[in-house]
Amino acid sequence: MSLNHLFLGKFKIYGLRDGFFYLDGGAMFGVVPKVLWQKKYPVDKENRIKLGLNSLLIDTGRSLVLIETGAGVDLKQKMVEYYSLERKQGLIYALGNVGVGVDDIDYVINTHLHFDHCGGNTVKKESGEFVPVYSQAKYIIQKVEWKTALNPSARDKPSYLPQYFRPLKENGLLQLEEGISEVTKGVEVIPVSGHTAGHQCVKIYAEDQVIFFLGDLIPTSAHINLPYIMSYDLYPIETLKNKDIYLKQAVEEEWIIALNHDPDYFFGRVAMKNDNYNFIPL
Ligand SMILES: [Zn+2]
Repeated sequence: MSLNHLFLGKFKIYGLRDGFFYLDGGAMFGVVPKVLWQKKYPVDKENRIKLGLNSLLIDTGRSLVLIETGAGVDLKQKMVEYYSLERKQGLIYALGNVGVGVDDIDYVINTHLHFDHCGGNTVKKESGEFVPVYSQAKYIIQKVEWKTALNPSARDKPSYLPQYFRPLKENGLLQLEEGISEVTKGVEVIPVSGHTAGHQCVKIYAEDQVIFFLGDLIPTSAHINLPYIMSYDLYPIETLKNKDIYLKQAVEEEWIIALNHDPDYFFGRVAMKNDNYNFIPL
C-alpha cells in the first residue's frame, strides 16, 4: 500500500483520485523505445498504459487548497470510451471521505487546462449550462496558460475543452497569475514550462519539509529518467531542462515529490543511482 496522506505540523496533505484513464504507451514515453519503457510499465492489448487522475488536497490549518480537479463527470461518452475512463466514485466523493465539501475549498490550482486536470472545475446543470463546482474558491491559473487555452493550436485543441474553464471567468472566480505567486501561506505556484507554455508546479512548505507537486513535468514515477518525456509535450527541450533543475533540487534538499498521473503512488522521494535519478515511493 502506498502512502496517501502526510501530516506535517499543521499541514494535512491528502492524495485523492478522481479515477483512472488509459493513454497510448508510445505517446507517453516519447522517443524512448518500447523495449525499454515496457520494463517499467505494463501495457494493455491496445498498447495503452494505465494512469491515475491524481489530486492533492492541502489543509494548511487556515485554508483548503485543491490541486487539480480530475476529468470530472461531464466528459462526452465518446471520450469516456476512447480513454477507457474508470471513474467509480470520483473526486467529490474522495473529498467527502476526508470530511471536505465542495463549498469548503478556498483555492483550486490547475497546473494547466487540459481536460484531465480541470474537467472537475465545472459541472453541467440540467439547463446545459456549466457552472463552477467549487463555488467559494478562487481558481489559480497562469495567464499564459489561460491565453493558450482560449486559442489552442490544432495540436492541442482536443485537450482544451472551454466548458471546463470559461465559466470560472464568467462567475468571477478566476485568478490569473504572472509568474511565481504565494496562493496562501505555505503554498506557492511556480511556472514550469515544457508540457505547455503556461504549465505551473506547486511548492508546499510544511514544517521543514518541501512537497513539490510536479503536474505534467513528471507525470508518473516511470518518467523520472530525464529522456522519458511525453510526446504530448509542446516544448520537450524545456521539459528536459526543467526536469533536471527540479530533480536536482529535490535530491539536494530532500523534497517529497507528488505525482499527477501515477496509478499507484502519490508521494515519493528522489535519489541518485548510477548517475540517474531514481524514484523512491513513500
Ligand atoms: Zn495530464
